[in-house]
Amino acid sequence: MKIGFVSLGCPKNLVDTEVMMGLLRARGHELTPDPRQAEVIVVNTCSFIAPAQQESVDTILEMARYKQEGAARRLIVAGCLVERFRDEIQAQIPEVDAVVGTNQVEQIAAACEGAPVAAAREPFLYHHGMPRVLASPRHYAYIKIAEGCDHPCTFCVIPQFRGAFRSRNPESVVAEAASLLAQGVREINLVGQDTTSYGQDLGLKDGLALLLERLAAVETPHRKWIRFLYAYPNRITTRLLDTLAAHDVLVKYIDMPLQHASAAVLKRMKRGASGDLFLKLIERIRRHVPGVVLRTSMIVGFPGETERDFEQLCQFVEAAGFDHLGVFAYSDEETSRSYQLDGKVPARTIYQRKRRLLAIQRRISRARNRARVGATTEVLVEGPSPESELLWQARLPGQAPEIDGVCLINDFAGAPPVAGEIRPARLTEAHDYDLVATLLEGSEEVRLPPVLRSA
Ligand code: SF4
Repeated sequence: MKIGFVSLGCPKNLVDTEVMMGLLRARGHELTPDPRQAEVIVVNTCSFIAPAQQESVDTILEMARYKQEGAARRLIVAGCLVERFRDEIQAQIPEVDAVVGTNQVEQIAAACEGAPVAAAREPFLYHHGMPRVLASPRHYAYIKIAEGCDHPCTFCVIPQFRGAFRSRNPESVVAEAASLLAQGVREINLVGQDTTSYGQDLGLKDGLALLLERLAAVETPHRKWIRFLYAYPNRITTRLLDTLAAHDVLVKYIDMPLQHASAAVLKRMKRGASGDLFLKLIERIRRHVPGVVLRTSMIVGFPGETERDFEQLCQFVEAAGFDHLGVFAYSDEETSRSYQLDGKVPARTIYQRKRRLLAIQRRISRARNRARVGATTEVLVEGPSPESELLWQARLPGQAPEIDGVCLINDFAGAPPVAGEIRPARLTEAHDYDLVATLLEGSEEVRLPPVLRSA
């Protein structure tokens, strides 16, 4: 059968999609990117906040039209929306033939082939022995090193449908990384709800640092980048920072969602700490890992957030000077604990606060980019730019895929750019989020001083 996938949500969900595609291909099914050609369409959904749920429902209804008009005979819904609204989906969208929850990934073939979908017997976590078809461009891939989460953040419903925290076996992660690198992947991005808790359930102390050391040691004929995303602030240890600083192939990049900076708001979020403590943490990180690039994300409009709390958040963001910052409007999820809290912030105020914080960060990002002009750094060449056929797109080590700005290549010395190569480049221009560079002579084996590697 020809099967088509739509994958929504985060990289962790994308990995599930890739495993489902691998399982189906292993059973002899053919994958097609064109829903008009597909006999079966699978929508792997997201549902952590209301806008994501709406996007999932809209996509399911859009794909349902292909059942009426196109070749599609079956429509399957998978992922996080199923965990929250399994019965509602089947009752309210009759075009849906089967649903597959996040712990039923191995049942995807049964769902597509029209066989009964068995209930999950235990929480699912894939391993390196499972077939996987990469949906990301060939030069980078995500590896999910753990699933679920044990943190009590009151605004978050993810633990309700992704379950308790569970780490993959380190041997399995290392084997998967070695296999991906042997296939030509240059950049490996480690993901999980909280990568810094990796190994705690396996009895490992500083499990992420240990895992990174092993991944850094994986032999490859070419240059590689290894990055981890989704760090939890109070799990960033000196051992982890020293490991990051010690290994050339570990990208000097820390993605650490802080969510807020007002101690009062962080307390109601059940995350603790404060802006002052976070500034000390950031100072420690920058001292241990020179040239490190910092990304964070914040929530505005959390119940009880006063104008003074918001001002504290703005002052903190000004003082911290993040390279990248995402801002989420608080989403009042019915099954979250914060839903019970008083002091709900009006939608208009939430909207204005989001705009104000983004405007502050745009200015900071522009200034940080301008300070880089003239520097030489290495870049991962991605391919022709979707913006213009006159440009190529690349990324600096400090630019993670899909969430950060990019580096546009408008000139090159020596050989023309090749997608997937890591090569030196000189930064020539800065924009609010993106940079522009000239690709320099020489291959990825050109040794650049560490500080220029992380720009
Ligand atoms: S750490 Fe992240 S996934 Fe876990 S409960 Fe908090 S916000 Fe949700």
